[in-house]
Amino acid sequence: MIRIFFFLFLVTNLFSAEVERHRWVNGETYLVFLEKHSLPIRPLYYNLDKDDQRLTEEMRAGVHYQILRDANETIQQVLLPLNDELQIHIFKTKKSYKFEAIPIISTTKIESFATKIVSSPNYTIMKETGSKKLAQIFTANFRNSLNFKNDIRQGDNLVMIYEQKYRLGEVFSMPILHVAMIEMKKKKHYIYLNDDGRYYDEKGHEVEGFLLARPVRGARVSSYFTKRRWHPVLHKWKAHLGIDYAARRGTPIVAAGSGRVSYAARLGSYGNLVKIRHADGYETRYAHLKSFRRGIRHGKYVKKGQTIGYVGTTGRSTGPHLHFELRKRGRAINPLRVVQVTTKKLKGKEKKAFVRLQKNYDESIALHLNNQTSYKKGAPFRAKCYIHSLGCTQNG
Ligand SMILES: [Zn+2]
Repeated sequence: MIRIFFFLFLVTNLFSAEVERHRWVNGETYLVFLEKHSLPIRPLYYNLDKDDQRLTEEMRAGVHYQILRDANETIQQVLLPLNDELQIHIFKTKKSYKFEAIPIISTTKIESFATKIVSSPNYTIMKETGSKKLAQIFTANFRNSLNFKNDIRQGDNLVMIYEQKYRLGEVFSMPILHVAMIEMKKKKHYIYLNDDGRYYDEKGHEVEGFLLARPVRGARVSSYFTKRRWHPVLHKWKAHLGIDYAARRGTPIVAAGSGRVSYAARLGSYGNLVKIRHADGYETRYAHLKSFRRGIRHGKYVKKGQTIGYVGTTGRSTGPHLHFELRKRGRAINPLRVVQVTTKKLKGKEKKAFVRLQKNYDESIALHLNNQTSYKKGAPFRAKCYIHSLGCTQNG
């Protein structure tokens, strides 16, 4: 299948003047965006199916997006990244415009650096790399296990190995920490990302995560979380940024964690929606509710396991179910990865595999320490493209 609309944004030569780079501003909605650029709302919103409509709600403030105009200033294409894997592609056809969700092409690099503590790890990492995100993932992962305030000394060592995505030669999306080491009072502390996607310390004990209860007791999962999936029947890219629990109408829904209700009302395709704000920037969302539990309103504090509402099928929903989402600082994450976390100690086969992985990581850490590897930004791309196409090569 040749998709003639798929083409590359070559930032060199002829197109350079027409590709505009924008930032999605706080409070901007997809519909406002369409209106602002005089793009037709019917084909680009009202005629979409519910999943695609839901996708349009995923645009977040601060995200960079691109608009390509032709010589007459007419918009030819728009690319709106929704997460690190999927983007909305709006493109001009003969008569109108079309909407599709397509994968984001990015390259991933493993990067590392070693540095010496100047003051807090946060400050040190910022100073070394200029990356708030790297500082964030470091402190977030050690937060529960170490006391940086009292036990850290100037000149102590810190090493990080992580995975970073690049798109158009620029850092893109949150880095993923693979291993980090920090020295405190002459003792080295490690954190490792294991093959199971969880973090463990040097003893193979899981570093505590955020614990969630199942929001509907005994319910079957009818649809899993996916940031991007090819739908074989519909022949298009879809995303499902939550988990669906099939349950009878009226089944109680409980708060997955303790927190404060930040929303309890109707909201577009979500129908009756409850949002709960938890510690550390986590938020859970419960959609399509038949009704809210009495007293569940904005500002109310709820305990984990407390009933907040009842299963229904309000909003854009095909039958009674709970659509459950977990977000961290606005970004959808897979609830199951965290839900199933109970502080785990690796044993047997798993422990053996972990020890092997740990050994490799320790060797890398030792090497970086020895070389005092400094932070380097990824090499610039030779050709820049968003959408994969013939002749569009990526390096990096
Ligand atoms: Zn759902």
